[in-house]
Amino acid sequence: MVNFDAHPLINKIKDTKEVFWINPDYEPKSIQSVEGLTIEDMNEAEERLKRFAPYIEAEFPETSESKGIIESPLAEINNMKTSMENINNTSTKGRLLLKCDSHLPISGSIKARGGIYEVLKHAEDLAVSEGMLSYDDNYSILKEQKFKEFFSRYKIAVGSTGNLGLSIGIMGAALGFKVTVHMSADARQWKKNLLRRKGVTVIEYESDYSKAVEEGRKQSEMDPSSYFVDDENSKTLFIGYSVAALRLANQLKDMGIKVDEDHPLFVYLPCGVGGGPGGVTFGLKILFGPNVHCFFAEPTHSPCMLVGMLTGLHNKISVQDLGIDNITEADGLAVGRPSGFVGKAMEKILSGIFTVEDSRLYKYLSILMDTEKINIEPSAAAGFQGPIWLMSSPEGKEYIESMKLKDKMDNAAHIVWATGGSMVPDTIMMSYYHKGKTIR
Ligand SMILES: *Cc1c(COP(=O)(O)O)cnc(C)c1O
Repeated sequence: MVNFDAHPLINKIKDTKEVFWINPDYEPKSIQSVEGLTIEDMNEAEERLKRFAPYIEAEFPETSESKGIIESPLAEINNMKTSMENINNTSTKGRLLLKCDSHLPISGSIKARGGIYEVLKHAEDLAVSEGMLSYDDNYSILKEQKFKEFFSRYKIAVGSTGNLGLSIGIMGAALGFKVTVHMSADARQWKKNLLRRKGVTVIEYESDYSKAVEEGRKQSEMDPSSYFVDDENSKTLFIGYSVAALRLANQLKDMGIKVDEDHPLFVYLPCGVGGGPGGVTFGLKILFGPNVHCFFAEPTHSPCMLVGMLTGLHNKISVQDLGIDNITEADGLAVGRPSGFVGKAMEKILSGIFTVEDSRLYKYLSILMDTEKINIEPSAAAGFQGPIWLMSSPEGKEYIESMKLKDKMDNAAHIVWATGGSMVPDTIMMSYYHKGKTIR
């Protein structure tokens, strides 16, 4: 057991103070693979998503413009940048962009990447091995009744704080699967209601995410027809998320934004159990190597990846072990114990992690609405403090110095990853907005 009490940040983390941790093991270099995963895996996933595109376009008309490809805009947010500089009394160099996964079609969060991908892969595996489907078919045939009947013989289960359940539930139910979502206490009522309307079985827990996952896994394992989407360990989910990097690289190119030795890219990703931000980070590091710098953002009350990486104990330690309550209004990030697999994968490729108080999430959410008319949920606002930490804190300045980036910051691009929000009902979104206004 590591003597983690010796780490200078531990006391601040225990006191739920905001901190900025630079990963001492970060290695700024090109990478070929992480935990056995390579660009081949990313390309294979992208190909699979293309095979499914005709089905998705037919089943979900909101994807018709993108021809069944589930992707979100990358938006430059200059008005937001000015507001952020004003409230923090600082200036930030480079361009500020928002990756609007809040507006991903079908389920309105970053989980529409990994979660939907894993359901599609499972459906394909089943149908192909049954001889009903082959890789060169037009997958719009999956809308036929015989496929719905076939998939209805199978179950899918998942444990979730809400958004993963939405993605698995919506896509699983559309294909015909019997889906059970094990929801933690943090999950918002509207997410449970929406799933029940779609015929998904929702089981509610009074405890947190880790317990919902554990129970879901246990119950699913007892049933051979049930497939468990394992948010804590799944490499399929991870690779589904990583495809975002391939798409982002094209969007950057289209916008004329360079990423190279003289044009650093900084990316700020809200982190729960780690699969979403970890998969995106993996993909970006494969494509951009040392020229991309990825940081995770966690709530001060749920800093599970920070605690796991800083101690090196990964999933062997929880925030509760340090006396932290794991109670946050950032429901998508309310995770007390990180994925061990993701933490290990991040050891040398993640630049750092910062924590954010809940009040700041509401504040940024309402400012974003005022300045850019973009609606996001509280969890999705966690990344905004990233550029501020990087450019105004001693830790950030030291990072820039040590990476020899000081005279390149005018050429930098900063991407805040907005991970969810477009499905939040209007009245609830307005209550978030008003809460943010009172905090300003
Ligand atoms: C799930 C989620 C995240 C984080 O993803 P993990 O894979 O749990 O780390 C971030 N933001 C929102 C809105 C989410 O739902």
